[in-house]
Amino acid sequence: MPLLRDPSSLRKWRQQLQGSLAFVPTMGHLHAGHLALFRLAQARAEQVLVSIYVNPLQFGPGEDFDSYPRSLDEDLHKLGEAGCTAVFVPTDQDLYPNGPLAQTQVEPPARLSDILCGVQRPGHFRGVATIVLKLLHLVAPDMLVLGEKDYQQYRIVQQMLVDLNLSTQLLCGPTQREPDGLAMSSRNTRLSPEQRAIAPALAAELRQLCRLPANNAAESSAEASAERLRQAGFALDYLELRDSETLQPLSHTQPGARWFAAARLGPVRLIDNMVIP
Ligand code: AMP
Repeated sequence: MPLLRDPSSLRKWRQQLQGSLAFVPTMGHLHAGHLALFRLAQARAEQVLVSIYVNPLQFGPGEDFDSYPRSLDEDLHKLGEAGCTAVFVPTDQDLYPNGPLAQTQVEPPARLSDILCGVQRPGHFRGVATIVLKLLHLVAPDMLVLGEKDYQQYRIVQQMLVDLNLSTQLLCGPTQREPDGLAMSSRNTRLSPEQRAIAPALAAELRQLCRLPANNAAESSAEASAERLRQAGFALDYLELRDSETLQPLSHTQPGARWFAAARLGPVRLIDNMVIP
């Protein structure tokens, strides 16, 4: 499995590649959620490229860029075992030669990016959109595979593909969960045993909210769930019902609407979302 460490090796590899290519961008510290996306990619394309890059542009000041878990050797082992075609591991110098802030950036529409995670993380989705576009230009895949776990990111990238006339096909893989319901995340390994025991409550509340009958008032139910989460030890950033396409708030439950939550346990910020069946 070739390890491509810079854009010129990637370009050479890409030029000689035969068959359709699916691309799975990640920040590494791979878990079964990433590997499920990889298998989806493998089922849909002849070749799969995974990138591993912790993108400084999507982290704000005081966020966990430095402490973000990194485990390249283990990641490469997992991808090799899974049958990955190649892995792209660029450096900051290659992607941001003048520093991440001193370059052209992609500004997603505010109606999608200044809400939910964009409130606590201003500029985060600009960083995401910028790195995804850069990687798409470098990799030139037929398909891009993203996870439903980061649904707001998925919607923003989907909109960017339309708005910037990109023809890459976008695939979305369902959220993979631990047996107790906690959405898998690289950040979960930073939870203390006590925090790890509390963490599944976030998904449990979302599951309960998704079971409410249609046309139920969203705000009062969300507030009751939020209070239970605070009692359990979470610092809640948001718990909201929104339209799955526009991401605009909804006052009442309805099939296809989506509950979104972000909450912190100590220094670890967890996000999750679930759609009402
Ligand atoms: P990350 O490494 O966290 O940037 O994630 C890389 C990709 O994996 C993104 O498209 C995420 O949405 C996706 N992903 C992360 N966690 C999960 C999960 N538990 N289930 C499915 N996809 C996931």
